[in-house]
Amino acid sequence: MHRTGRIGLRLTRAQRQRCFDLLRSAGDVWACVLEVNWWRQHRGDRPAAGYQELCRLLAESGPGTFGELDNVGARSVLRRYSDAWFSAAARRKAGAAEVRFPRRRRGLVPVRWYHGTFTVTGRCLRLPAARGCPPLLVRLDQVVPYPAGTVRSVTLLLADGRLCIDVTAELPVTTYPVGQAPDPGRVAGVDLGIIHPFAVAGPGGAGLLVSGRAIRAEHRLHLADTKRRQRATADRAPSRGQHGSRRWRKTRRRARLVEGKHKRRIRQALHEAAKTVIGWAVERRIGTLTVGDPRGVLNQPAGRKHNLRLRQWQIGRTLQILHDKATLAGIRVHLVDERGTSSTCPQCKKRIPKPAGRTMSCRHCQFAGHRDLAAAFTIATRTPGGAPTTPTRIPGGVVTHRRAGRHLPGVATARRDPRRRPPATGGSLGRRRPAPSQGSRSPTPVSEDPQHHRKPPGQRSWTPH
Ligand SMILES: [Zn+2]
Repeated sequence: MHRTGRIGLRLTRAQRQRCFDLLRSAGDVWACVLEVNWWRQHRGDRPAAGYQELCRLLAESGPGTFGELDNVGARSVLRRYSDAWFSAAARRKAGAAEVRFPRRRRGLVPVRWYHGTFTVTGRCLRLPAARGCPPLLVRLDQVVPYPAGTVRSVTLLLADGRLCIDVTAELPVTTYPVGQAPDPGRVAGVDLGIIHPFAVAGPGGAGLLVSGRAIRAEHRLHLADTKRRQRATADRAPSRGQHGSRRWRKTRRRARLVEGKHKRRIRQALHEAAKTVIGWAVERRIGTLTVGDPRGVLNQPAGRKHNLRLRQWQIGRTLQILHDKATLAGIRVHLVDERGTSSTCPQCKKRIPKPAGRTMSCRHCQFAGHRDLAAAFTIATRTPGGAPTTPTRIPGGVVTHRRAGRHLPGVATARRDPRRRPPATGGSLGRRRPAPSQGSRSPTPVSEDPQHHRKPPGQRSWTPH
């Protein structure tokens, strides 16, 4: 199966310029295709969308039309266009009339090179250029994390204001020694959530809870930061119809970089959380993960705050990450409806009111346990086709606790805003006041300080002689 990793670049000024030129040339290719099809449409002709047909058009344009971009790179843009066109056509045919064919020009378009056209040695990547131009050598900021010989393609792109390379590798499914491979008959239920990105209930009452409080804190801090930054820089924003100033461009760039950093942190935390789940499952030889899919309830409007919470949850990405890692480890994943699982008692299967906190207690059978683990248990019983060793014991066995996002700032020591000043050692000294002036007055003793002088109400502080 194919996995893709993103790697940053260490570039000199000249290399950066050449990378941007390549992306811009790719944008030119994209714009040319749009233009050709615009003319065809106005003549009443069939649009050119097939990859072969587009390649013929490219060959007709001759070498050197698109700057330093070589044939392979230009063809990858054609492939991108062709895929987008046909997927739009398929969706329109299926009845989605609002889907439109690619029509927007883009300044910078990612370029992909296929196996055999580039070489990676250590942290050095050699990208081909058009005939007559020297190849582009760039330095990666880390070694490619896949075994040599598995890399199938590299993509140069601009993501969140940074030039980077996406490396795609074809990896084999993990093989295990005899008797240690995951058994498809051993099932675990997975409940997805915000506080706990993953709650897993496995056979024998074993459970795993991954805490996502650090991720949520990161979201909140980022939102607060963004608001503050927007308020502070609002007066630099150009008014409608005006060009932005250079200072405004710098502000925008800064905001984009911070946004990118936040995104990378969240993505890393999600990957770590999913890795924990898969590691836990492999250790217990669990071969099937039954995941409750909450996406059915997400399309309903739930108010401003909860809508934001749900959008930040990134449920589709979480599922995708878990699915990819499970497939690589040889574990099957089933998506099932999770409706009602957090309000069903796992022991007597009766509906009970959804608990507000983390503890579920049933008034019918005196069951009490973790809400998310109970939900995961109920999800496991919904495995399609059933399974011989669906967890039969109510969660209550060994529960493993893990935290996602250990790398996030301020998580390791304490869960507080790391940007606040650390507390003064030995207790607070109170508010800082200027030192009392010497000479004219002696410092007022606390008992005579008018602010600390308490009198019973109704009594006047000044008495006439
Ligand atoms: Zn019960």
